[in-house]
Amino acid sequence: MTASGIVRKIDRVGRIVIPSEIRKTLSISSGNSMEIIVNKDQIILSKYADSCLFCGSGKKVRTFQGKKICERCRKKLSMI
Ligand SMILES: [Zn+2]
Repeated sequence: MTASGIVRKIDRVGRIVIPSEIRKTLSISSGNSMEIIVNKDQIILSKYADSCLFCGSGKKVRTFQGKKICERCRKKLSMI
């Protein structure tokens, strides 16, 4: 993890703006879903993907070590 050195204030309703340079670097666009992960006293924002990391399918997707993998790709991986 790398500290960006950027500090932002939370507004009255709990919102915070992710700086445009970080959104651009991580290819985060308006309308993308973000997953909120709480780890002790830290809040981690992660780009949420509900489709397979390898093929992009949304069918029978499960999470393995934080990554989404569909049933078809899981079967392919089990053959390696
Ligand atoms: Zn897949």
